[in-house]
Amino acid sequence: MSTAAPVKTQYEAIIGLETHCQLNTDSKIFCNCSTKFESLPNTNICPICLGYPGVLPVLNQQVLASAVKLGLALDGEIAPYSKFDRKQYFYPDLPKNYQISQYDLPIVEHGFLEIELVDAKNGEVRRKKIGITRLHMEEDAGKLVHGGSDRLSGSTHSLVDFNRTGIPLLEIVSEPDLRSGQEAAEYAQELRRLVRHLGIGDGNMQEGSLRCDVNISVRPVGQKKFGTKVEIKNMNSFSAIQKAIDYEIERQIEALEKGEPILQETRLWEEGSQRTISMRGKEGSSDYRYFPEPDLPPIEVPPKQLEIWKAELPELPAQKRHRYETELGLSAYDARVLSDDRTVAEYFEAAIAANANPKLVANWVSQDIAAYLNNNKLRITEIALKPEVLAELVNLIEKSTISGKIAKEILPELLTEGGSAKELVERKGLIQISDTGELEKIIDEVLAAHPSEVEKFRNGKTKLKGFFVGQVMKKTSGRADPKLTNQLLGKKLGKG
Ligand SMILES: [Zn+2]
Repeated sequence: MSTAAPVKTQYEAIIGLETHCQLNTDSKIFCNCSTKFESLPNTNICPICLGYPGVLPVLNQQVLASAVKLGLALDGEIAPYSKFDRKQYFYPDLPKNYQISQYDLPIVEHGFLEIELVDAKNGEVRRKKIGITRLHMEEDAGKLVHGGSDRLSGSTHSLVDFNRTGIPLLEIVSEPDLRSGQEAAEYAQELRRLVRHLGIGDGNMQEGSLRCDVNISVRPVGQKKFGTKVEIKNMNSFSAIQKAIDYEIERQIEALEKGEPILQETRLWEEGSQRTISMRGKEGSSDYRYFPEPDLPPIEVPPKQLEIWKAELPELPAQKRHRYETELGLSAYDARVLSDDRTVAEYFEAAIAANANPKLVANWVSQDIAAYLNNNKLRITEIALKPEVLAELVNLIEKSTISGKIAKEILPELLTEGGSAKELVERKGLIQISDTGELEKIIDEVLAAHPSEVEKFRNGKTKLKGFFVGQVMKKTSGRADPKLTNQLLGKKLGKG
């Protein structure tokens, strides 16, 4: 992750995030319609999510469970009494002309999320608590598809798909505690880790399952009054969040230095030109004429139920990272990579449980296997290499049965075909040559074949040792024990 652009010392940025997180329930928030992503337009709809008169919404209990669990993971206060409200506005993708949301009594308030920032240069870790103002449940709106253009302007017609109408969302509002693009991107990532570890959503930004709106202003350090707030939308990756904020901080500081006013507006992040552009002005806070939703009873979470949900919480990412660092001796970096995704963490832990060295397993998972997953757009649950077999592979290297280089060579086959590492090594005749007599014979042949290099070596060109090691490896197809080869070569050549 690149570090934030340097903020001139006399200014500070005040940043808050509003995050919408789509839940992975099978049915919508107030009806039994499917939430399947790839269905044909307007096939997952019913009178309830289309807001026909006289229908009665019923709260999906899994949505409430997800909200409470995320609230607990954020150390928030779970409201003993909460309710839904109607948020009134008109838009063509909103069939009811109101959205069922929560206004003055959200299900969760006053939490915090601790983020961990790793310095790219020295690896130092800095931790910071970001306040959570509130978390509430709401329904998503439908989706407009503009014909002839990807935007409303320039389009010849617009179509509406109501499949998304009534998909459950959690909105998480942070305190304005963030100060840089890096902090904001890390906050969003940590939130996604929580959602994934809790198993309540996939947090996929490209597909819109996790959407972040940024509120940002700058002010001279020491000034109490906030600067004019600008909202940024349209960022579909963590790096876009970071870059959009860093760009916006610079833009606002430049404007202030020139004496230009900052307009209160909504800006869009343009990935192509790497800048924010004005989308529309903002007229104060909109009057949505909220009022309590009369068709849904208030929400009261019974203390017994709350205890059950508390007991169901898994180990959270921050706890996992801490355990990996203190108990398994992993670096802060490796601990983050391995705990980012719950399935990766489970894979890692299964390999360790099969008696393999945690640090070595961590290296394989975070480097070679991660690269393979990335290149092939696969999840760790989709590879043929079982965690027990990775443990076997690591142990074969540790016992010097095979070299690390051979292990890397057979990895692709294990990843795609599966099977036992030991059997594959035996079948292909890849067992390392660690027999001193056998190696000495090969070394003698190599030295005899390169008399002039031997002479140069003895005349002081000791760098040539690498050349001899290479020749031995070539002759043995990489099967020579590198450590022993080095030792024997040293002995035969005199020094080096
Ligand atoms: Zn429905």
